[in-house]
Amino acid sequence: MERRLIGKAASPGIAIGRVVSLRPVSGVPRAGAAPDLERSALRQAIEATKQNLRSMVARLAGDEAAILEFQIAMLEDPELALEAEQFVGEGQPADAAWLRSMDMEMARYRASYDVHFRGRVSDLADIRDGVLSHLRSTPEHDPIEPGQIVVAEDLAPSHFLRMDWTSGGGIALRAGSPASHVAMLARARSIPMVVGLGEAVEGLTGLTVLDGETGMVIGSPVEESLTQAQAQALRLSVGRREAEQRMREPAVTRDGKRLSILLNISSLRELTGLMPEDCDGIGLTRTEFLIESALLDEEAQFRAYAALVRWAAGRVVTIRTLDAGGDKPIPGYSPEGEANSFLGLRGIRLSLSRPDVFLVQLRAILRAAALGPTRILLPMVTLPEEVGEARSLVNIAAEQLARAGLAFVVPPIGIMIEVPAAAMAPEIFPVDFFSIGSNDLEQYACASARDALQLAGHAHNLHPGTLAMMAHVTHFARANKIDLGLCGDAAGNLAMLPTFLEMGIGSFSVAPGCVAELKAAIRNHRASDGTSIVA
Ligand code: PEP
Ligand code: MG
Repeated sequence: MERRLIGKAASPGIAIGRVVSLRPVSGVPRAGAAPDLERSALRQAIEATKQNLRSMVARLAGDEAAILEFQIAMLEDPELALEAEQFVGEGQPADAAWLRSMDMEMARYRASYDVHFRGRVSDLADIRDGVLSHLRSTPEHDPIEPGQIVVAEDLAPSHFLRMDWTSGGGIALRAGSPASHVAMLARARSIPMVVGLGEAVEGLTGLTVLDGETGMVIGSPVEESLTQAQAQALRLSVGRREAEQRMREPAVTRDGKRLSILLNISSLRELTGLMPEDCDGIGLTRTEFLIESALLDEEAQFRAYAALVRWAAGRVVTIRTLDAGGDKPIPGYSPEGEANSFLGLRGIRLSLSRPDVFLVQLRAILRAAALGPTRILLPMVTLPEEVGEARSLVNIAAEQLARAGLAFVVPPIGIMIEVPAAAMAPEIFPVDFFSIGSNDLEQYACASARDALQLAGHAHNLHPGTLAMMAHVTHFARANKIDLGLCGDAAGNLAMLPTFLEMGIGSFSVAPGCVAELKAAIRNHRASDGTSIVA
């Protein structure tokens, strides 16, 4: 029988596919057998987990593959299972022994002085659950076929990145939020997503229609619903195709103003299928996602940034320094147990408290800047002193590189405008450019956490108060000839485009999946006389 559920639309598009549920590993504990049998069950489970990981690696590239290769290497270390085997020898079933030994191992990693080790705890948790699912014969989750609709409580951004979305698919979450980072990643890859479906999501099985435009999910659709959904999917794809055919053309308004359209990037994979000619460069690189697996490694960071600069072929690449904390924790780096992590040690505040980590990132950026036009973007800036301290560290990074004889360039430095106090006093910041982060500006202006589902309605269109702050900073930037762009998700909200054009915003940085339609919409609008055109 057809079942209709209503949630909140988080990423547009229509997905039609079979449901696969992601459930945390629990399963029935093993009864236990003779130690020899339990030991061999453990070895087989480790082998099977490695095989699963290897087949995933084959589908991934770059840093994403590196995360899983690291997990395979950990499973290949014979020392890893020694402790568990010892517990088995004492008479424990293999699953209990494995859980106990891995929890002890994770506690050791967590207590390590080395931030790199602490950052590996989540990898250990993944390994623990993978092996456990084989020991208890409960698949970690049903294998995910490309094109399926993933149903889960919530989805971590790293989990999303590990899945294969090349053949489409959809996401239906019991909880979640349209303003979360996983929703942002889904929009970037054009994967339809609905959140906040509640308990009823558990009952979804078989063929399902997910409408990321309206938030409707239809389980076991009747013939008529299915045909309607297919027709709607076709209409959307025709509109999209038309927009995509003109994707390479610049974004010029009806009255002939050329605007800048840049990309928001969280992973090198998002550039697959895109040409640099499709955009005016990269307006925001969320390095907290791009380099999570390589927190302390200058070479790995340099390679990732250099790949972006080379891809952009002379267009500007804006690299935002780590914006860890808040809803983007980096295990072992961002603080744990803050009463309110959104208001705590996040973004530039955290970077300045860890110059050892910050300098590594700055050196990697300065080296990449030698390969093409690059800009440094500082997140969560509140005080001018933060910019001053960041500049001093940039200078130190430059001196270190000069001493090491490595090529580098010191790029322009700009700030995110995402803290309301900064939006209202842009004149206090000695910077080269501003980038408005409407996601955080809205959450801080409205006292509504961006990941709070119950408050998600607040996030649809920006509050007039947020718009007033944006207008204030835009006016200041234009009057003082300082580059300004918008890189929050609102930049891809076509309903708000006329408001932004009237405000005078002339540069938009959006998820790759939004470029074609944003350009098409711009062609239907007129720009304000004062629109600032910046790269
Ligand atoms: C923003 O806050 O609008 C923004 C672009 O940054 P992030 O979403 O990564 O916090
Ligand atoms: Mg932000």
